Amino acid sequence: MTPSTDRNTELFDRARKIIPGGVNSPVRAFRAVGGTPRFVQRAQGPYFWDAAGQRYIDYIGSWGPMILGHGHPAVVEAVTRAARDGFSFGAPTEREIELAEAIASLMPGLEMVRLVSSGTEAAMSALRLARGATGRSKILKFEGCYHGHADALLVKAGSGLATFGNPTSAGVPPEVVQHTLVLEYNNVAQLEEAFALHGKDLACLVIEPIAGNMNFVRADTAFMRRCRELCTQHGALLVFDEVMTGFRVGLGGAQAHYASLIPGFRPDMTVLGKVIGGGMPLAAFGGPRSIMEQLAPLGPVYQAGTLSGNPVATACGLATLAEVRKPGFYEALTAKTRGLMEGLSAAAEQAGVPFRADSEGGMFGFFLLPELPRNYSQVMKTDGSRFNKLFHGLLDRGVYIAPALYEAGFVSAAHTQEDLETTIAAAAEVFQLIA
Ligand SMILES: *Cc1c(COP(=O)(O)O)cnc(C)c1O
Repeated sequence: MTPSTDRNTELFDRARKIIPGGVNSPVRAFRAVGGTPRFVQRAQGPYFWDAAGQRYIDYIGSWGPMILGHGHPAVVEAVTRAARDGFSFGAPTEREIELAEAIASLMPGLEMVRLVSSGTEAAMSALRLARGATGRSKILKFEGCYHGHADALLVKAGSGLATFGNPTSAGVPPEVVQHTLVLEYNNVAQLEEAFALHGKDLACLVIEPIAGNMNFVRADTAFMRRCRELCTQHGALLVFDEVMTGFRVGLGGAQAHYASLIPGFRPDMTVLGKVIGGGMPLAAFGGPRSIMEQLAPLGPVYQAGTLSGNPVATACGLATLAEVRKPGFYEALTAKTRGLMEGLSAAAEQAGVPFRADSEGGMFGFFLLPELPRNYSQVMKTDGSRFNKLFHGLLDRGVYIAPALYEAGFVSAAHTQEDLETTIAAAAEVFQLIA
């Protein structure tokens, strides 16, 4: 054990006595890659420091929210000012309107928005609304896509669960998931078959348009077009889970990306989280007025939250969105992320390590595979022990990537060219070791 991990080990031992697995979200426990999780002491810009004072270049960014990097001055200022005016009221505030308006102005399909506190809550609520609005029970999802841990969605779910090689969770009665269909991502034939059999009973199809919970896998344009056509044809709602991709892959999210590929494309409902809270617990779902007005207090679909639209969280989200809206923000972020992927690819090729990478905006994925995977089972063909060596080799060199091969990665606006070059140089060393 190196001295730098001592303090992390101490904290992990203490945490495990009081918190199951020592963590409050499973992937943090490093179980997929082994070793001791690093306990974060503080973070600034593209870096965080662990409990032993070791600095890491951060490619997780809280799994997406920290698109500006840590401790952006304008965001810190907004949050501090908001906190002085009160933490929570249980009564409406102006900032909730401002945030809903800001989101709606950037995503044209969202005529109305409701704010909640986590992506899980947003996806769960959107699902209930889809069922309530259509009067149908069945839902369709794809293997490897994660939509939070609501019971009905824990069917062969992606990240987190895959750590334990367990496709479903205990504690979810079969009756609760009997209406959930799970199909292979990017498989048009399966999709058509499912709609032919169940189309008239389907409330919605929920999808991560660019999946970030089975590493990084994009929906093919033809597949996405078919999702849209079949939903329209059968009266099912197309629900885009953009908790990860929203304001991460581009200003209008993945839906703007697909609209640029498929004329007139638009999902029916959108689920958001992560970036819209800028690192605070905040999420949202939205869609056409006619559907959103089915929600309580206007309509019969119940949904509520004590901390929903929290005044400090909305200040954080608004300040974050103000930054990403600045001209050139995504162009610069995209160029950085692409540059990183190109550098890593070149280093892997030089070492003779099979490697493929993809990215969109500030979200990326790379695979120790000869081809980019198109679905979950292809992602899982990755050589796990080789990935673990890559992970630990990078960690030892001060580069923190996701501690599991089925997670995406994130670059922030705060990452400098030097950070990216340091990362590529570290990876080049590790590729030589794992070739
Ligand atoms: C993170 C994530 C969720 C869940 O959000 P939480 O805030 O962790 O509950 C849902 N869907 C997708 C696509 C996500 O990436």
